[in-house]
Amino acid sequence: MRQFSKRFTQQEALSKDAINAAVEVMNHGRLHRYNVHNEEVAEAAKLEEEFAQLMGSKYCLAVASGGYAIACALRAIGVRTNEKILSNAFTLAPVPGAIVSVGAQPVLVESNRHLTIDFNDLESKAKQSGAQKLVLSHMRGHICDMEILSAICKQLKLILIEDCAHTMGAYWNGTPSGKFGLVSCFSTQTYKHINSGEGGLLVSDCSETMAKAIILSGSYMLYNRHQSRPSLENFEAVRLHYPNCSGRMDNLRAAILRPQLVDLPKQCRKWNRRYYAIANKLKNSPVIEVIERSPKESFVGSSIQFFVLSDNPQFVSKFLDLSHKRGVELKWFGDKQPKGYTSRFDSWQYIVNHECPNTINILDHLFDMRIPLTFTEDDCKLIGEIIVESANTCQ
Ligand SMILES: *Cc1c(COP(=O)(O)O)cnc(C)c1O
Repeated sequence: MRQFSKRFTQQEALSKDAINAAVEVMNHGRLHRYNVHNEEVAEAAKLEEEFAQLMGSKYCLAVASGGYAIACALRAIGVRTNEKILSNAFTLAPVPGAIVSVGAQPVLVESNRHLTIDFNDLESKAKQSGAQKLVLSHMRGHICDMEILSAICKQLKLILIEDCAHTMGAYWNGTPSGKFGLVSCFSTQTYKHINSGEGGLLVSDCSETMAKAIILSGSYMLYNRHQSRPSLENFEAVRLHYPNCSGRMDNLRAAILRPQLVDLPKQCRKWNRRYYAIANKLKNSPVIEVIERSPKESFVGSSIQFFVLSDNPQFVSKFLDLSHKRGVELKWFGDKQPKGYTSRFDSWQYIVNHECPNTINILDHLFDMRIPLTFTEDDCKLIGEIIVESANTCQ
């Protein structure tokens, strides 16, 4: 039996351009974004300009992490203590974490078999809770019908914040993911689409919100050094009314991200070739079902999710074990106990009401795998074969 031996947590090395850019910053030593010589524009400010341009957004702010970006967005739009904020149940822990960090209470909404938010449950939970904000997480890169979602938000007067941690470089019906929310948040953490270890980006077209976010991120009143910012009058009204909740990005991280932005479309194509190499193999199993996607979704296949249907109660543990023995590390979202990065929403016990029985049923059969670009397309074919053989053996 063929064995797979590469590591699932090994990302690609940074490019020479990124390394050279980092060395330049280290040589001059001005790592803090507001530490600039005369008319110099800091790397962090350049990154913001470039990301705003890529997104077709008016403004961008670089911050310390993706989770910070979400919390900062919430602070900027204004959140009352114990205010209820909607979010999909199938997401990653930093999302409820960001909501709770601003003193609000997450209200979890069911996810469906496409791993996107359930519109009926969204409407009923919105009405039931009176929530006025939705943090929509495009979890594992699955994008719901954004036209329907936007209509629901409009009708229910919900302010939308998009969590695009897994959709940088993705589109819905030709529009970049992140162009639908009042504010949209991205992560540049190692396991996302561009890698600075830690980091986050926020984009918005709203001058007032962005001025507040820049002040909140810890601008020390040096907001005039931002390039991708609203005009200075927008800051006058808010500069003394919003606290400095330090969470800036530094120039070293910005410097290594800028060349990665240039490579992003190419990297997305590489991910998708690998995604389809695996998905095409998985079609060979009658019990495996890769998550179906809308033709309007141009996703980035940086990970793959699939259901395995089995009546055998021992199936999950046998399947995970057998794949693992052959070197394929699958994650199972059905586990009650959090393991590594994977946790199910009912383990977030700080959330008061987290009843989402349909989501539990869905996650019970859901397997997940990251696709690092250190894997070749041939590696991905082998991984697909191992998954199929393991699933068939364990029935
Ligand atoms: C990674 C991630 C975030 C934020 O991540 P940070 O580690 O704070 O940068 C937010 N949402 C989802 C779905 C994520 O996977």
